[in-house]
Amino acid sequence: MSARAAILVTGTEVLTGRVSDRNGPWLADRLLELGVDVAQTAIVADRPQELLATLRFLADQGVDMVITSGGLGPTADDLTAEVVAAFQERPLMLDEALEGRIAEILRPLALRFPDLDVDAVRAGNAKQALVPRGATVLEPVGTAPGLVVPPPEGSPGGPTVVVLPGPPRELQPMWGDAVVKDAFRAATAGAGDLRQRTLRLFGLPESEIAATLRQAVADGVALERLEVTTCLRRGEVEVVTRFEPPAQSVHDALADVVRTRHADTLFSDDGRSVDAMVLDALRGPPARRIAVAESCTGGLLAARLTERAGSSEVVAGGLVVYANEAKVSLAGVDPGLIASFGAVSVEVARALASGACDRFGADVGVGVTGVAGPTGGTEDKPVGTVCLSAVLADGGGALTHRVTLPGARFDVRDRSTTVALHLVRRLLAGERD
Ligand code: ATP
Ligand code: MG
Repeated sequence: MSARAAILVTGTEVLTGRVSDRNGPWLADRLLELGVDVAQTAIVADRPQELLATLRFLADQGVDMVITSGGLGPTADDLTAEVVAAFQERPLMLDEALEGRIAEILRPLALRFPDLDVDAVRAGNAKQALVPRGATVLEPVGTAPGLVVPPPEGSPGGPTVVVLPGPPRELQPMWGDAVVKDAFRAATAGAGDLRQRTLRLFGLPESEIAATLRQAVADGVALERLEVTTCLRRGEVEVVTRFEPPAQSVHDALADVVRTRHADTLFSDDGRSVDAMVLDALRGPPARRIAVAESCTGGLLAARLTERAGSSEVVAGGLVVYANEAKVSLAGVDPGLIASFGAVSVEVARALASGACDRFGADVGVGVTGVAGPTGGTEDKPVGTVCLSAVLADGGGALTHRVTLPGARFDVRDRSTTVALHLVRRLLAGERD
């Protein structure tokens, strides 16, 4: 059996949705990478009784580890360390050396804010240096130390609790420090014997994958030895499979069935996203630079292309050409095309793509124009109609498509960026209209 963990996110602002939770999903990914099975994520308000009740509940699920985020600040409403100490029956003790190190971190802050209440700062500092007896300290990234708190000395069967700060910029670097601690390793001793593989497909309904899984069973693939989850994400179907190493051959057999039945839509079998594949293909050889001209996506495609570090090597730039006049004056679209075919047309998409190439002197151009809704649809061009084109400079060929995307305004705009990336991927792989 693999090690199991639960995640406990604290914070009234997260519970209410004012801040969306970035720690739960991030920690779940890291745990899966370590081969630790994630049983669940709970989100609770900053109330000690709820925190304690949820720790008890998670411990009752038999998890080996609970990871908490938030509530480590210097003020009285930050009470995670105190509650966890009570839960693990380990009294809080002042760690004077730690108190000194936190004071050093605070010194430049105090200089910057000379009106700071020195007594309050000192009290907060002392509070953050309280460590449950027998716990391992994780050095502060901000001002708050994290903790790895083992189960009660008298009853070692319960979970180890790893206590991390709330701000993602503090939690993420501290994670690297936590995983190498002996107390962390002891709690996840059974980990590492779970593998995860991802297949990604584009352009088929999720129901087709369900049919393929049934086919695999009929072909004798022992699917019960795999945990298979399929989901529709940003217009792609993702099939994630988790299994213990002896079931590798079962996974491989399933992957073969998917490859055979969906050769035209399976685009990634090594976990890589289309975003990464496009950037890699642009890096070459031959190295190429890309430019975009976007109407209905309003810059989302350029944003997506530039999300990854290093994108400046291959992304030249983008035009947001929402109004027809902007399509003409900025992207050089012939106004006659707009008059004859309408702004949402494959002709205009193609002209936008060529215009982007020309204006930026790029090697690859992309044009996107569509009806994102909720209004503006017509009988021939209902809401969700999007025309996209990807072209190579100097008459090197193009791929141009008209699609009808489901969903509301957000979905149409978001999925348009996915369709555009797949057009570029296929164009760079040699496909042409
Ligand atoms: P601080 O010393 O800043 O108070 P803390 O460890 O006590 O740190 P919290 O008070 O829970 O952390 O959260 C501080 C801020 O960090 C929140 O207001 C929020 O902006 C951000 N934050 C906390 N938890 C999350 C989360 N799960 N996802 C995203 N942001 C978060
Ligand atoms: Mg706080």
